[in-house]
Amino acid sequence: MSIEELNYQIYACRKCRLWQGAKHGVPGEGPLNAKVMLVGQNPGADEDELGRPFIGRAGKFLTKTLAEHGIKREDLFITNIVKHISPQNRKPYSDEVVACLPYLTTQISTIKPKIIVLLGASAKETPRLEGIEYMEIIHPSAAMRFNNMRDKFRLQIAELAKRMNRLS
Ligand code: SF4
Repeated sequence: MSIEELNYQIYACRKCRLWQGAKHGVPGEGPLNAKVMLVGQNPGADEDELGRPFIGRAGKFLTKTLAEHGIKREDLFITNIVKHISPQNRKPYSDEVVACLPYLTTQISTIKPKIIVLLGASAKETPRLEGIEYMEIIHPSAAMRFNNMRDKFRLQIAELAKRMNRLS
């Protein structure tokens, strides 16, 4: 299945309750040959409005921190474990994650990234495929709010930059 077909399935998906409160499905974006994939929890209000991942405050903070370490956001494929916004931005319920994970699995199998970066605790439910390096890091929204987490987040992005350099 092509990514376009997959995106269409996500836009039309009714496999869990989350589509009911959403304006747009947010499949994710980035090059289909990306060496690095970022996976967050779920789209927020700004993402729901425009149908694009990580474009709100946390996304801008993420993009800026990546750039400070020489990483271009547009080189990465960015997505979430669930593709529709949740009410009050709550953590997705496990049945919602289970329903949505096949989309992420297909994205991983199609893009075949070398590194997958899991943003925050919920992203840890991302399927683990052989031959891919996984990094668990702080979610940018937490890093943006708390000084101690911000410093650690910067170190984690610096480590990602190092690992990316090793790939090229
Ligand atoms: S969150 Fe995922 S499983 Fe639920 S309706 Fe949206 S695309 Fe479908």
